[in-house]
Amino acid sequence: MTGRVATTCPYCGVGCGVLARVEADGAVSVAGDPEHGSNFGRLCVKGAALGETVDLEGRLLHPQMRDANGVLHRATWDEALDRVANGFRRIVDQHGPDAVAFYVSGQLLTEDYYVANKLAKGYLGTANIDTNSRLCMSSAVAGHKRAFGEDVVPGCYEDLEQAELVVLVGSNTAWCHPVLFQRIAKVKEGGARLVVIDPRSTATCESADLHLPIKPGTDVWLFNGLLVFLFQHGVMDAEFVDAHTGELNAALAAAAADAGDPAQVARICGVQLGDLLAFYRLFARHERTVSLFSQGVNQSSSGTDKVNSIINCHLLCGRLGKPGMGPFSITGQPNAMGGREVGGLANMLAAHMDLQDATHRDIVQTFWSSPRIASQPGLKAVELFDALLEKRVKAVWIMGTNPVVSLPDADRAKRALQACELVVCSDIIERTDTNAHAHVLLPALGWGEKDGTVTNSERRISRQRPFLPAPGEARADWRIVCDVARRLGFAEGFNFESARDIFVEHARLTLFRNHDASGDVPAARRLLNLGGLGSLSQQAYDALQPVQWPVHEDGTGTHRLFGAGHFAHGDGRARFVATVARSPANAPGREYPLVLNTGRVRDQWHTMTRTGKSPRLAGHISEPFVDMHPRDALHSGVREGELARVHSQWGAMVARVRHSGGILAGNVFVPIHWNDQFASDARVGGLVNPVVDPVSGEPEFKHTPVRVEPF
Ligand code: SF4
Repeated sequence: MTGRVATTCPYCGVGCGVLARVEADGAVSVAGDPEHGSNFGRLCVKGAALGETVDLEGRLLHPQMRDANGVLHRATWDEALDRVANGFRRIVDQHGPDAVAFYVSGQLLTEDYYVANKLAKGYLGTANIDTNSRLCMSSAVAGHKRAFGEDVVPGCYEDLEQAELVVLVGSNTAWCHPVLFQRIAKVKEGGARLVVIDPRSTATCESADLHLPIKPGTDVWLFNGLLVFLFQHGVMDAEFVDAHTGELNAALAAAAADAGDPAQVARICGVQLGDLLAFYRLFARHERTVSLFSQGVNQSSSGTDKVNSIINCHLLCGRLGKPGMGPFSITGQPNAMGGREVGGLANMLAAHMDLQDATHRDIVQTFWSSPRIASQPGLKAVELFDALLEKRVKAVWIMGTNPVVSLPDADRAKRALQACELVVCSDIIERTDTNAHAHVLLPALGWGEKDGTVTNSERRISRQRPFLPAPGEARADWRIVCDVARRLGFAEGFNFESARDIFVEHARLTLFRNHDASGDVPAARRLLNLGGLGSLSQQAYDALQPVQWPVHEDGTGTHRLFGAGHFAHGDGRARFVATVARSPANAPGREYPLVLNTGRVRDQWHTMTRTGKSPRLAGHISEPFVDMHPRDALHSGVREGELARVHSQWGAMVARVRHSGGILAGNVFVPIHWNDQFASDARVGGLVNPVVDPVSGEPEFKHTPVRVEPF
């Protein structure tokens, strides 16, 4: 390990520790960090191939600006930063602060996120800053807040190893969070049971004791039915429910109305009654149960209710905050959690405070000494691009994300950028579908060059450390934001010299007024607490070991929350949420008879800007495909191995037909990764319906009516 730099994988929310080193021949070698408490030395194939993805081919190395003829030219940093600052200032002066916006990313480090949020909400005075985490995690955020009073995952990965039963809901963990799945597989060898709830039969199902291939979108019926079953069979912790929760009766009434009869639930969910009851009995029988859920739950027009229907079952049994049990949201991106902690969502403030709470706004504004503070929630991702298209928002700064590929109704996102007066993109890659619409391109540092922190799915803060020099003129995202903020006249709030300076300010904000003797600080404010990290020296920051928040004054972290039954709602109680089951927003019909589900494949990441460089990773699946049932292929007139066109009312794409054997009749699956940089007409985002969950604003990526035709 000598000479290796301890850093963190930039891909999924497992947040594996990585040891990286530049070898004598210039190649980068990586290994799992055996000391890191989230992976103990394990890496999946994507993490293991990181060294193959750090070359400079395709990198954006210098600032660029588009001229009056629409041509991009190299510019100096001063020219580019002036154009961004002058453009934002002019639009704010003419149209007010809500005419500008930021669209950021779970790829950013916490320090980058912090300063972008501070600039938008505290200095420009707009809450129009949202993140691509809206597309994957916001239903879990909203569900946590409704149930616990705080956006928090109560447990830790260790719970999976201590569980008797692991329930995976809407998660192909074997492919999407492989190292976590390795930990689950190990505990299964020790006798734990595994239930997988997923319309698709995925690699994850191969290890399952029971697979429930539920009809897409029926999760709330399934878990409402479980709640009723548990209650009727006396499987509840009455003492816990009485002392620490509220509103059980309303939740039970709603559940019973939808799902009081298991036979009816089985029919609606499209599973065998025997299998449904087997799941209910397994859940009833095993005290130490972890229900792990991911995008199959979140990416839905009823995603927040799905999350709460799962949490309700755990609350009824008092199964959370103790070893081996709890509802567990796993995040898609490496720093979806860190972004949430510093207010990266349009409806949140830094340190998990609430934009709509005047006390919270006062805490943040006072701490920042900022001239103003946004007082109303800003536009969520899909709304934000609608506002760009309608010219209500006239300037947008996109950092580290590719919305022209990843947003639903992605062609509309493209038109939105074409309508925009000023599009600024900070990125590590020069040519992307989104950067094609930029007026200013700003080169950012990438993994291996950046310095800062990320937080993974179990609240573990880890360092990303640099081991490569900054390429070309690339700068850290936080530095670029501060450069613009100073040009806007906000020097005082943005005089940071290092990522450490920003982290310390963030940690201090989590403590500010927490011990206010007046007692007027809401309980929710006290949970995200970075304790002793608010006084880290540069040396201590450089040496920071992975730690799970809340962090105590002595620097030690917290494995589990809520074990004492004290929650973050004002009265200290958790809430059952009455979840009313409803079908996905758009039903298949004559013109679009099939249901499109989207997701990841094992060896690629997002829009492939990094993983697409590795021949080893491309060897797994090398082109976009549409996985469908042979019967549907026959009806559609397409054959396995041939190209087909997939249409929805929002757009079309081309992909090769595949029969994996794991797809229910009536459904198709298309991966999210390919885009126009790799193959023409390959953006599945162009097909996806733009309907969102009314509470979280998360799009319904898992349920779009489509038809498939010969190419
Ligand atoms: Fe990286 Fe996720 Fe693989 Fe771990 S499991 S190495 S975090 S991609």
